Amino acid sequence: MGADMTNTAKVALITGSTSGIGLAIAEAFAAAGYGIMINGLGDADQIEATRAKIAADHKVDVLYHPANMLAPAEIEDMVTQTRTHFGRLDVVVNNAGIQFVAPIEEFPAEKWDQIIGINLSSAFHTIRHAIPGMAAQKWGRIINIASAHGLVASPFKSAYVAAKHGIVGLTKTVALEHAKEGVTCNAICPGYVLTGLVKAQIPDQAKSRGITEEEVIQNVLLAAQPTKQFVTVEQVASFALYLASDSAAQINGAILTMDGGWTAQ
Ligand code: NAD
Repeated sequence: MGADMTNTAKVALITGSTSGIGLAIAEAFAAAGYGIMINGLGDADQIEATRAKIAADHKVDVLYHPANMLAPAEIEDMVTQTRTHFGRLDVVVNNAGIQFVAPIEEFPAEKWDQIIGINLSSAFHTIRHAIPGMAAQKWGRIINIASAHGLVASPFKSAYVAAKHGIVGLTKTVALEHAKEGVTCNAICPGYVLTGLVKAQIPDQAKSRGITEEEVIQNVLLAAQPTKQFVTVEQVASFALYLASDSAAQINGAILTMDGGWTAQ
């Protein structure tokens, strides 16, 4: 479990932090000395190895909670366990997310429900349980990992685009409610980042569009990004760390793009 840092350092809870962007955010906050609650799905031994490595690399306390983002009671327990273990909760990063790509008329209804649940409603649940303590201590940061798809659409991503537009609205609303108490709420909208979530959709995109996988990367994914480069997980993580800093105290309700210029078009 690492050193006992109760009440000695700020604490960040990052949902969906067993891989990809969330893992990079957990590592960045650990490197900055935060106590960390990680969360996400995956092989138990691998997750324990990840938890132990972050703790050892950065000499901070790192805990794992297995809450499924589709289970509100588990989300509540994760927030409670964070406070019980660390004695505080300063930063929540709502990052867990899944993708599914299909034309609307073929889009499975259960996939719609899952995506809205994991990519949108889970953030409602973490926020409603985390924010009273943040308001009471007069300091808090909610950082929602939205997407360029929170601002613009692409075909075949109805649920994802709806959920990400939804989290943009949630971000703005939460930002207004406890602003006087030092709690900010912002959204980062990355363009394409080459994580498992993106790699997994390449074959489906190829099938839906009738093109090769290489054509999906060049002509669909990076076509949207004027820089013609993927955003990196480290870039998103360092942006999140900045938003958690005191320097960012007046950034509130902001929908912040990191998309190589995609949504400038
Ligand atoms: P990823 O698949 O690498 O990571 C997703 C994480 O969410 C994993 O830790 C996974 O275990 C967790 N997760 C999934 N379902 C869960 C559930 N039911 N309960 C708890 N945890 C669950 O993907 P990523 O690319 O790192 O995505 C992270 C976030 O960034 C997502 O919200 C995604 O929409 C967003 N995003 C990604 C990109 C991109 O191009 N990769 C771009 C913009 C936004």
